[in-house]
Amino acid sequence: MSKRRELDPRSWLVSGGRPSSPGDPLNAPLAPASNYQLPAGRSYARSGGTPTWEALEAVLGGLESARAISFASGMAAAAAVFDLLKPGATVVLPDDCYHGVSALAAGRAAAGALSVERHAVSDTEAWLGAATRADLLWLESPTNPLLSIADLRAIGAAPRSEGCLLVVDNTFATPLNQQPLDVGADISMQSATKFIGGHSDLLGGVLTTRRDELFDALVESRTLLGATPGTLEAYLALRGLRTMALRLETAQASAGVLAERLAEHPRVVRTRYPGLASHPQHALAADQLGGFGSLVSFDVESAGEGDRVCAALRLIQHATSLGAVESTIERRAAVHGQEHLPPGLLRLSVGIEAVEDLWTDLDSALEA
Ligand SMILES: *Cc1c(COP(=O)(O)O)cnc(C)c1O
Repeated sequence: MSKRRELDPRSWLVSGGRPSSPGDPLNAPLAPASNYQLPAGRSYARSGGTPTWEALEAVLGGLESARAISFASGMAAAAAVFDLLKPGATVVLPDDCYHGVSALAAGRAAAGALSVERHAVSDTEAWLGAATRADLLWLESPTNPLLSIADLRAIGAAPRSEGCLLVVDNTFATPLNQQPLDVGADISMQSATKFIGGHSDLLGGVLTTRRDELFDALVESRTLLGATPGTLEAYLALRGLRTMALRLETAQASAGVLAERLAEHPRVVRTRYPGLASHPQHALAADQLGGFGSLVSFDVESAGEGDRVCAALRLIQHATSLGAVESTIERRAAVHGQEHLPPGLLRLSVGIEAVEDLWTDLDSALEA
């Protein structure tokens, strides 16, 4: 097996996590197993893992020079982080936070287990202040779906109260565009359902950390809550990872083109994309991100107009989620828990179709 530190991430994604003895299959096998031959080695998969997740974790860990823990979903990964908190903990969330994580925190707050504070991720001062009194800073950057940028370097370098964890939901950027552990995050999280899988056919999540005591605690949480990934899902996620760099490169190049054209379109009220010079934090995004990503949010006049556009599209799928080979679009204020968003905001996840076909589809649906 090749060593991560000698390789560009694109090469590591292709070569990492492979079996390495003569006669082994080239690919890590799909190895469904709940239990193993005793007496030596692992005994039971929930605590001991499977060779398939281990291969996935080897690639994901190597990608961030860290150790990776894979989960049944992104939410299972988030819940394992919340499981580390002591009763009465203070959690700081983005005001534009993934709605599942917001709901998870709100549920625990309602049960009296923790209290929640929220700030815009662009308000660096607020996060620096919170760092000295909170127990968990949960950041997203770019955020979902407003695509705001947090100054991760400044927040990561600031003093934090003892035991305060900085966790970054890195689902939108992926480790190819941004590595939160390099700028002071304790844990980096991704929904593997999105770019890692990349084909809308699995649920998965991953946490990475360089701190052994956090790694052990998170593995213990996964074991006790049974939040383990399915073997087929881990296999598909690993297969997805092999092409993640190519997919992301193509998709974000197209997203840049589409964002520029949407911004000029008479039917579009506002276009949000970190790569546009008009994005309020474009300079920070350019400095911090290796690429601007494949998500573009744009506003049309009203909810009705947004629904009409989604229904008129032919190539772009009217569906939730993101980070897949196929482009998807959704009016986010129609999603439960997202009613506060601008009613005409459409979140477009650009896939790997030919960009001119995507533009023809968007332009015809907007003009229809
Ligand atoms: C999808 C998503 C999640 C949740 O992941 P699941 O795999 O759906 O559980 C968390 N954060 C972000 C930013 C997401 O897009």
